[in-house]
Amino acid sequence: MDCLFCKIIKGDIPSAKVYEDEYSFAFLDIKPINLGHTLLVPKKHFTNLYEMPDEVLAELAPIIKKLGIAIKNAVSADGINIGMNNDSAAGQLVFHAHIHIMPRFKNDGHEHWSGTPYKNDAEMNRVAENISSKL
Ligand code: AMP
Ligand code: ZN
Repeated sequence: MDCLFCKIIKGDIPSAKVYEDEYSFAFLDIKPINLGHTLLVPKKHFTNLYEMPDEVLAELAPIIKKLGIAIKNAVSADGINIGMNNDSAAGQLVFHAHIHIMPRFKNDGHEHWSGTPYKNDAEMNRVAENISSKL
């Protein structure tokens, strides 16, 4: 399979590795939003969140925390964003599931996404019920 992150995991393409275990691999994003921006990937190829088995997610969760704290300390960040883009509509460019761990600094110039309030409680409740019904 022609997958950039599979090649990075195998070592066929170089990366700045920060962590590796049996199930996961983490390396610096080549175009960081701030220095230390890291990508955590499952070693097995899954396209996105929807494909990832719960066991794989459970393996990654504590690593996200471990890396988040290490990155925050390493670059003396003021905060950390954890992100995951799923599907091109959400900005996914590499189709091997990955989690962004992004150090943030006060006044680093990155904007929070802007939101629009619901029109009213009825609309908000309708949306909540719709989501609940799909679980
Ligand atoms: P996404 O938009 O969530 O699919 O993000 C893909 C990320 O992979 C981007 O932030 C890229 O900067 C990063 N990226 C692409 N190629 C490489 C590479 N060879 N090494 C490290 N990071 C990469
Ligand atoms: Zn892959």
